[in-house]
Amino acid sequence: MRQLTYDGMPIPGLNDLVRTAIRLHPAPGEPRPDESHLGGPLLWPSDEPWPECPVTWPPDPDASDDAWKSGHRLDGPVPVMVSAAQFFRGDFPELPFPEGTDVLQILFCPMEHDSPRHQGPAVRLVWRDSGEVEHIADPPPAPEEADAALLPVPCVFEPCSIDELPRLCDFPPETRAALGIPEGAGDDPEGWPELGQYSKIGGWTAWSATERADLDCRECGAELRQTIALATEEHEVGCGCEVTEGEPAGWSFHRRGVLNVFTCPADVTHPFKVRID
Ligand SMILES: [Zn+2]
Ligand SMILES: [Zn+2]
Ligand SMILES: [Zn+2]
Repeated sequence: MRQLTYDGMPIPGLNDLVRTAIRLHPAPGEPRPDESHLGGPLLWPSDEPWPECPVTWPPDPDASDDAWKSGHRLDGPVPVMVSAAQFFRGDFPELPFPEGTDVLQILFCPMEHDSPRHQGPAVRLVWRDSGEVEHIADPPPAPEEADAALLPVPCVFEPCSIDELPRLCDFPPETRAALGIPEGAGDDPEGWPELGQYSKIGGWTAWSATERADLDCRECGAELRQTIALATEEHEVGCGCEVTEGEPAGWSFHRRGVLNVFTCPADVTHPFKVRID
């Protein structure tokens, strides 16, 4: 790869910062349970209970990673979750899959939940072996109290790949030093490539209102890594593809931001975190 420069200067280590993201380009469609999608039918076995929201009160420390300030009371009905996304390894080998699994399913509890660093839907990640699913479950209806802004329109993908550089808050200290960026500076260097908001696998976090904070693995201490981004708005930047629909999934996260899922690079089954920004 060519040596990246900044302001005409080759900066050591800049090339190592490039991450190739898979931009999903969701578009409304009619996905099947055996396809990758947003908000479509999940390949969920009929003999497995449909999952409920993990954010209960009193909280279950194993079920969810954030310091929730409240949750669904256990002496009443806990809402069922809804399909948010499904990714097959065959379509997205870039995603981490625990051994013996080939599909990642993302479910939302489609209402606001409140923790110091995440205001939005509760999220579950489920990896499974699609070959073990014999009969597919009929999903229960979305809970009555669901926030319509968190229920996606089913979408299919037309992925492309895009090279990304991080926002300043994700720069390693060496790179900050090489670029002469003072300690505590918050804005990207002038002329730095823009990191737009769009749904993707991998890449860097398109921080806009907040900065990276409190993103270490609770289990092993490793720094969690940007893994999946689900965007409210699909920006027309960077990849050169035409973006026909700005909000194809129809969902709207806090401040019209991006829902980012961070996973542990040492073991993807370690507790993940969600940040909307
Ligand atoms: Zn919930
Ligand atoms: Zn870990
Ligand atoms: Zn594209």
